[in-house]
Amino acid sequence: MESKFTEMYQKEPADEKDGACGQVADLLDSVVDGEASAEEQSFFNSHLEECVSCFENHQKQKLLKSLISGHLKRVIVPESLALTIKAKIQETI
Ligand SMILES: [Zn+2]
Repeated sequence: MESKFTEMYQKEPADEKDGACGQVADLLDSVVDGEASAEEQSFFNSHLEECVSCFENHQKQKLLKSLISGHLKRVIVPESLALTIKAKIQETI
């Protein structure tokens, strides 16, 4: 299960490479760790509302952190998680 997750995680979305995505990628770790400032956090959140790639990245990163820190006992299958997120976003567009 864990190796499957790792495979999935390594497929980083590379189709959107504007400056905002780069900044969000830089912020990802601090946000997940709860170390981002309020300003960074709000920039991050507003970008995630309009960028599916970064949103999914954030979900995966949170999942990975949970796995590493052992808070998550049950492994969620990332493919279905990603599909659910995509479906939800497409509904709202
Ligand atoms: Zn983005």
